[in-house]
Amino acid sequence: MKNNIGILGYPIKHSLSPKIHNFWLKSMSINGKYRAISTPKKNLKNKINFLNNKGYKGLNLTIPHKENVLKFLDKTDNNVKITGAANTLIFVKKNKIKGKNTDIYGFEKAINKLMKNKKKENAMVLGGGGAARAVILVLIGMKYKKILIVNRTKKNATKIKKDFIKNFSLKPRTKIICEDLVNSEKFMGNVDVLINTTPLGMKGFPDLKLNIKNLKKNSAVFDLIYNPLETKLIKQAKKRGIKNTNGLDMLIYQAQKSFYHWFKKMPKINNKLKKLLEKEIN
Ligand code: NAP
Repeated sequence: MKNNIGILGYPIKHSLSPKIHNFWLKSMSINGKYRAISTPKKNLKNKINFLNNKGYKGLNLTIPHKENVLKFLDKTDNNVKITGAANTLIFVKKNKIKGKNTDIYGFEKAINKLMKNKKKENAMVLGGGGAARAVILVLIGMKYKKILIVNRTKKNATKIKKDFIKNFSLKPRTKIICEDLVNSEKFMGNVDVLINTTPLGMKGFPDLKLNIKNLKKNSAVFDLIYNPLETKLIKQAKKRGIKNTNGLDMLIYQAQKSFYHWFKKMPKINNKLKKLLEKEIN
C-alpha cells in the first residue's frame, strides 16, 4: 500500500486522473496504483481516515469534496485558504493530513503557455466558484491590471473580491470588477484573455450561450472544460482565429504537481500521455 494513491469524488466514473497517474507510476517504475474511489459527501471523513490508515500516500479530491475537506486538514497553506479549496491531500507522519491546491499551479502553467508573447492587462473570468478563485489568484500574481468577474450570481463574484482584498490585507494592484453573466458580451471589447470557469459547455451541461464577436482578434480564450475537447466557446475562438486552449493542459499540470507532492519526483508530460487522454475523451 506504500505507493498507493487515489481520487475521491461523487460521481467519479469519468475521472481522467487514474489514466494520468497510472501512466506515470508505470513509466517511472513505481510499484503502486491510483484508484478512483466513489465517495458520497457523508462518507468523506471516514474514507480519508480509512485510506490513511491503510498506508496510502495521499489523495486527490474532486466534486463535491474540494471545499468540504478543509475541516479535516491539519495543515494548509495560503493558497488553500484564499481559494477555500484543496484538491490534494498528503498523508504525513503521525496521521497528519496536509492539504494543497494544485489547480493553481495547473492553471498558471497552462495560461503562461497560452499567453506567451501576448498582452496581459485585462482578463474576463466567467464564473465565481472554486476554479474561478484559483484562476483569479494566478491572474493577480501575473499582475493583470483589471479582472472582470462575470457570474450568474453577482454576489458570489463580489464575495470573491472581498475575500481577496481581505487576504492580501491591502488592495492587490489588480482592479477587480464584478458583473452579471448576462452582461458579459458588453464588456468584451477590451479583454486580452477570456476564461470560462463555469461548467457550461461540459458534457451533461447546457452550452455556454456567449457570442465572442466583440473579442479582439489578438486576444485569447481559455476554457477550463476538457470534455468535450472542443466546446462551443473553443469552436468560436478557432473560427475567428483567436488563440485558445481547453482545460486538458491545466488538468495534466495539476496532476503533475500532486504527483510531485506525493513522490517528490516531477513526472514528465509528453505527447503520448496527451494523446492517451484525448483518445479517452473522444
Ligand atoms: P463550482 O465551485 O461549482 O462553481 C461553478 C461556477 O459556475 C459558479 O460560479 C456558478 O455560478 C457557475 N455556474 C454553474 N452552473 C451554471 C449555470 N447553469 N449557468 C451559469 N453559471 C453557472 O465549480 P468549480 O469547482 O469552480 O468548477 C467549475 C468548472 O471548472 C467545472 O467545469 C470543472 O470541471 C472545471 N475545472 C477544470 C479544471 C481543469 O483542470 N481543467 C480544474 C478545476 C475545475 P453561481 O455562483 O451563480 O452558482
